Amino acid sequence: MNTRPPTIDLDSIRKLVSEADVEGLIEIHGAPDNEYDKEAETLHATIAQLQTSEITVSKLLQTLEAIWRRNFIDDDKELALRRPALQNLAEQIANVFGPDAKPRAQENSQLMTDLDYLHACIAEARAAERDGEVPIGAIIVHNGDIIARGQNRVLRDHDPTAHAEIVALRHAARALANYRLPEGCTLYVTLEPCAMCAGAILHARVSRLVYAAVDPKAGACGSVLSVLNHPQLNHQVEVSSGLLAEECGSLLTAFFRARRT
Ligand SMILES: [Zn+2]
Repeated sequence: MNTRPPTIDLDSIRKLVSEADVEGLIEIHGAPDNEYDKEAETLHATIAQLQTSEITVSKLLQTLEAIWRRNFIDDDKELALRRPALQNLAEQIANVFGPDAKPRAQENSQLMTDLDYLHACIAEARAAERDGEVPIGAIIVHNGDIIARGQNRVLRDHDPTAHAEIVALRHAARALANYRLPEGCTLYVTLEPCAMCAGAILHARVSRLVYAAVDPKAGACGSVLSVLNHPQLNHQVEVSSGLLAEECGSLLTAFFRARRT
């Protein structure tokens, strides 16, 4: 019996907010499924601070109304029209994350696992930071085992290619004595891979990529470039992102802020 309180993960919040589609932007206006990501992120940031016992329908409704006033419409009458939908959304979120939440079902076991592995990446990132490197960490998992770990080590190694993902891929390939990784390997990393790393992920035949924060400056998994899953490539990679994005992103912003002062 799983007695662990549900982890308040951004992906689940995004899904609930998108499915609620309070403004009808997705259903009626054909907006993409990520239309409400900004609202979901704000909501996630707020409730991630709360104790489980504080995640009540009234508290959630209050938070949702504040978000809606800021992002959509700051008008009492208009807000009243949306209140039933917001109330419904608040109830759903309380059902999933509140004190009466049922233990998370099977579909979430992957999510827990991804969270655990991303925490292992964060440990690598912090270790890199202690050595003066930009804090980015990666691991590679096969059949549930961590088969390789990598930290960003470009400064320590005087190596422009020593990104965390490359370091982990080299370790994994050496350990398995094969430059192509076996079917079913997942690479976890704290930051969206760059073009070089995305290319290496393809060469290594990584099955799945899970990254936390997006990299709006150099990300090659959709932010700046889309190196993975080009229709003409024969190797396709399953990609998930967003879990622990704030935590991993703030590691980087704190690091750069500290260097400027
Ligand atoms: Zn890279």
